[in-house]
Amino acid sequence: MNFQVDETNQEIRDMVRHFAIEVISPRAKEIDEKDEFFPDIVEKAGELGILSMELSEEEGGIDCGTLASVMCNEEISRASAAVSNVIGAIHLHLGLLHRFGSKAQKQRWIPALSSGKQIGGFAITEPDSGSDAASIKTSAVRNGDNWVINGSKCFITLAPVSDMLIVLTSTDPTKGVHGLTCFIVEKGTPGLKVGPKESMMGQHGVPVSSVYFDDCTISKENMFGEEGQGFKIMMSGLDGTRLDVAACALGLSQAAFELASNYAANRKQFGQPIGNFQGVGFMLAEMATEIEAGRLLLYRAAQYRDAGIPYTKEASMAKYFCSDNAMMHTTNAVQIFGGYGYSKEYPLERFMRDAKICQIYDGTSQIHRLIIMRNVLKEYKEFTCN
Ligand SMILES: Cc1cc2nc3c(=O)[nH]c(=O)nc-3n(C[C@H](O)[C@H](O)[C@H](O)COP(=O)(O)OP(=O)(O)OC[C@H]3O[C@@H](n4cnc5c(N)ncnc54)[C@H](O)[C@@H]3O)c2cc1C
Repeated sequence: MNFQVDETNQEIRDMVRHFAIEVISPRAKEIDEKDEFFPDIVEKAGELGILSMELSEEEGGIDCGTLASVMCNEEISRASAAVSNVIGAIHLHLGLLHRFGSKAQKQRWIPALSSGKQIGGFAITEPDSGSDAASIKTSAVRNGDNWVINGSKCFITLAPVSDMLIVLTSTDPTKGVHGLTCFIVEKGTPGLKVGPKESMMGQHGVPVSSVYFDDCTISKENMFGEEGQGFKIMMSGLDGTRLDVAACALGLSQAAFELASNYAANRKQFGQPIGNFQGVGFMLAEMATEIEAGRLLLYRAAQYRDAGIPYTKEASMAKYFCSDNAMMHTTNAVQIFGGYGYSKEYPLERFMRDAKICQIYDGTSQIHRLIIMRNVLKEYKEFTCN
């Protein structure tokens, strides 16, 4: 077991850290306040190869693996969780296209998305199907060489600015999870309507909306993967994106911890730095330990993915642990800053608002405990003490 970051990954991380400090950090407050999308930052990330890090060189990527990719996303989140979220969403699309896209779909979308010039959304959730994603009702019915989609999706990240959506539909309600199929629906397709951008608690600047399908007709060439493979595609995509959410949460914890530690070492009350009071200093000690523990969980899950080892349980562990910690750490950092933490003069309150969604999307923290629980019960069913 090697706890050192190798030289190549260190170089890539340093390049991304520089980008985060120079380009993203100065914009983070404004993005939050104006709640405006940031296409220029996404394109710049595309130029630097940050969006396509995991793609092969043939596909225009740098093939540096998931470990490097999550290290970089942590750096980006230290500057802005909103930018980290968008980069994670693009990684998700590129990963899915790489694994399940047809030749034509790869040619059409991989260069467009990896350059940051075009954007995609992944539409699973519906008003009555959230955690129970297999219960979706949006239907796709075959009509000759076309498929006709009807239904609606809600809370779709980037939908208002997306050039394409990967949509999970039910093509055969009698087959349960084996009756789900994904399709690519391009912006402007007749019958597709994108709802207005919704107002959210945190990660401002990342537009989210509902989408509606009213006899939305697409060619059979738009089927993504095979008929009945939709659930498998969704789960495989979510395993990967959970690592990006964990990295985003970790970046928030790290940023909050750094500011809180510096503040506690310098802010004096009762004639001494507040960090000397155990009530404050122990919060920092726990943050430092939990951040390290979360990072190790995340890096292990990423290494499993790079090595082709199943990593669903490990991804869930990293996702819920880092997300729950990010919520606690950002809240405690606000506490350490006292009234200044509550003020918008400092970024702590933004970190706290940005952290909350990490516990909700891409599987809530409760659902990840369920996934771990099921895996553990299966693994230990035949356990004997020897
Ligand atoms: C900002 C934002 C962006 C999003 N982006 C996308 C996107 O791009 N694409 C997309 O498809 N979706 C997206 N979502 C939807 C998100 O994935 C869902 O909100 C999430 O899966 C939870 O579903 P729900 O909101 O319907 O809550 P529910 O599933 O109704 O859950 C409500 C509560 O019950 C708990 N719960 C549910 N079932 C169980 C159980 N079996 N055991 C224990 N507790 C349980 C949950 O943990 C939660 O606390 C986004 C949501 C938000 C807010």
